[in-house]
Amino acid sequence: MSQSYRSTRSSDPATKTFEEAIIQGLASDGGLFIPSIIPQVSKSELFDKWSKLSFQDLAFEIMKLYVSSDEIPEADLKDLITRSYSTFRSHDVTPLAKNVTGSNENLHVLELFHGPTYAFKDVALQFVGNLFEYFLQRHNDGLPADQRKKITVVGATSGDTGSAAIYGLRGKKDVAVFILYPTGRISPIQEEQMTTVPDKNVQTLSVKGTFDNCQDIVKAIFGDKEFNSKHNVGAVNSINWARILAQITYYFYSYFKATTGKEEKVKFVVPSGNFGDILAGYYAKKMGLPVEKLVIATNENDILDRFLKNGVYERSDDVAATLSPAMDILISSNFERLLWYLAREYVASGDDLKAGETVNNWFQELKSKGKFDVPASLIDGAKKDFDSERVSNEETTATIKQVYEQSVNPKHYIIDPHTAVGICATKTQITKDNDNTINYISLSTAHPAKFADAVNEALSSFDGYSFEKDVLPEELKKLSTLGKKLKLVEKADIELVKQTIEEELVKMEV
Ligand SMILES: *Cc1c(COP(=O)(O)O)cnc(C)c1O
Repeated sequence: MSQSYRSTRSSDPATKTFEEAIIQGLASDGGLFIPSIIPQVSKSELFDKWSKLSFQDLAFEIMKLYVSSDEIPEADLKDLITRSYSTFRSHDVTPLAKNVTGSNENLHVLELFHGPTYAFKDVALQFVGNLFEYFLQRHNDGLPADQRKKITVVGATSGDTGSAAIYGLRGKKDVAVFILYPTGRISPIQEEQMTTVPDKNVQTLSVKGTFDNCQDIVKAIFGDKEFNSKHNVGAVNSINWARILAQITYYFYSYFKATTGKEEKVKFVVPSGNFGDILAGYYAKKMGLPVEKLVIATNENDILDRFLKNGVYERSDDVAATLSPAMDILISSNFERLLWYLAREYVASGDDLKAGETVNNWFQELKSKGKFDVPASLIDGAKKDFDSERVSNEETTATIKQVYEQSVNPKHYIIDPHTAVGICATKTQITKDNDNTINYISLSTAHPAKFADAVNEALSSFDGYSFEKDVLPEELKKLSTLGKKLKLVEKADIELVKQTIEEELVKMEV
């Protein structure tokens, strides 16, 4: 089967290969890459075959529909998948926990945090790291050192993404990784996870400044043509298509686990920020997985919830700092992909080129006026697939407490604040639906140890609760005993960061 990729903003049908879409990340017109067709899977294929597959075999069936075999031969794709998920601590890769809330048998928690950094981003970034290496090695095979193609990945993090990117790219040939973070402004565990990785090709830069300073520097580096062409700067941020692709698998896999392989009513509830996680669910639904609804759970940064309620996509002035910081966003970068599909169906009468023009106009408007609005018919259309719930900080804390108190198996199940946003939204849906034939799959996006402050705030008043004993895994405990490798950058200044990267690149001998 032949698959290619196009931009969400382009009225130009020119298409890219999978490799081009992955390595380039963002289209040159500012749009995001989407597959030219969404492959369809029949019910008999789903329930007679796919429902019986392991996570890895299912990933292979899905991915080969998005990657032509003349681009990546099937045996190579299989090998990439096997290696990517061999680093997970769970046999199921993404296991389902049942009955953790005590009363409701229909509420399943999909644990996505069993990868090397204990965060859901590992599911995608373990695969992306291997994919980058695969493309580079194929190109570099047999070439002398000075002719090898290399990539310098530069990223900024306020915590979670940085460590998942580092663990995805550590030790990969011809790839150098630089992750900037604001000195003293990320949690100790997050800093330990990033700075204790000994691989030569990884360097963390602790920058005196804020997260916004770090992000601005990274953006400036991407915009710096000279530096870029010299070092072939690459990104692994949340808009990369390979990340979405890798995440599609667990929607199918958990559906089959929750329903024991039969067709039943299923709703997914997804704690959302940049809309990458839930967008993968949208692709699963459009491929033919019979999902009732995808429920967007947001914290107080609720641009997505407001959009579904009133049809206006409007950026707030400030990001609210919440208990679930990985979802603290002003706009949701991956939402543009959904908008393209909605624009094509409800504005452009199925015309791909007109859909691209429409999306382009909306984003011009967002840039100039801070908002745009869409026809009511489009919102009605979106609501066939999506619903949304907004969850406050108080509700987040209350949900962590409630689950701890009420859980039966295991007793005292402990969830992180992002997962709590999802479970709170799930409970609201259960009450509204009042239908015990619906299965709810609530996505759990991080291990509670990664968000110690919020978890302790909710649970420290319980007798017998201990973070060290009940939450912190041995593997993370050990990190504090390991040596740290970080480079201090004394000023949040682009020239200083560029100079530091160049000095370190020489030392790395990548
Ligand atoms: C990134 C992240 C999210 C949000 O996922 P999106 O794909 O950006 O919507 C939620 N929870 C955690 C813990 C995350 O790291």
